Amino acid sequence: MTTPLLQVNELVKKFPVKKGWFRHSGYVHAVNGVSFDLQEGETLGIVGESGCGKSTTGRSLLRLIEPTSGEVIFQNVDITKISKNDMHKFRKDIQMVFQNPMDSMNPKLTIREIISEPLIAHKVPKVERNQLINDTIKLVGLSENHLFLHPEKLSGGQLQRVGIARAIILRPKIVVADEPVSALDVSVQSQILNLLNKLQEELGLSYIFISHDLAVVEHISHRVGVMYLGEMVELATKDKLFEKPYHPYTQALMSSIPKTDPDEEKERIILKGELPSPSNPPTGCKFHPRCVHAMEVCKSVNPTFKDVEGRKVACHLY
Ligand code: SF4
Repeated sequence: MTTPLLQVNELVKKFPVKKGWFRHSGYVHAVNGVSFDLQEGETLGIVGESGCGKSTTGRSLLRLIEPTSGEVIFQNVDITKISKNDMHKFRKDIQMVFQNPMDSMNPKLTIREIISEPLIAHKVPKVERNQLINDTIKLVGLSENHLFLHPEKLSGGQLQRVGIARAIILRPKIVVADEPVSALDVSVQSQILNLLNKLQEELGLSYIFISHDLAVVEHISHRVGVMYLGEMVELATKDKLFEKPYHPYTQALMSSIPKTDPDEEKERIILKGELPSPSNPPTGCKFHPRCVHAMEVCKSVNPTFKDVEGRKVACHLY
């Protein structure tokens, strides 16, 4: 195994919950001790239901949200411990693509001005800027004519291409993509996924790809981590995970994917109850109130995330 490009150790993000003006009434445990690594040129999918902490994990890696504790090691530096100034330098190498690119675009600016923003923020000399802008707009499948338009003139798919152009214009090593295709039509989704694959090959990018959609994650990922209520419960290569999921929660998620082969035997596993509140999570294994295999030990002891037959699983069954 080569040295990972990024190593995340025991990442925690708690949000304080306030009652009234000053009273503090506990914490929402959005991310609770998540660990994984990312290899060079790899796409690591992170999947789970809404509210499982996957987006908070992604944003904490770039310190768009400050993590409460844990380590994010990049180029031998724990970037959770460095100053905001030093973090600015690392942002050149770790960029983000958002679900709704419009949310982070000033509608009064042209596409050229929007994708120039990172070049200006990182003081790239003017002579290099033009070349990078012209190269990058073509790399994402748009033309130089698009540079003079405002965002309102572009379709959803074209806007996401602009979002990707802005993320790659500094030629980062890692892109964290948070639900980058979930707001798009299915036909446009596959175009954007193919574009991400092409850019990975051409620029040697590594992706952390966050999505609630298992089919999308299966299409693009090399390995997949499954999150439940702020914790990673299973991490495996895509092939192993989709062929035989080990964790009961992963099994339930997989059973919800529609059958593509009518002869395929697949029984849908219906989860009991609702996703518990992250401000008041269950004791022991957080999945135990909904798990069909729950045992007595599951109610009091949270299983460790351990190696099982070439994958990692957090479950007392293994
Ligand atoms: Fe189910 Fe127990 Fe495994 Fe949790 S630890 S997933 S409750 S069997």
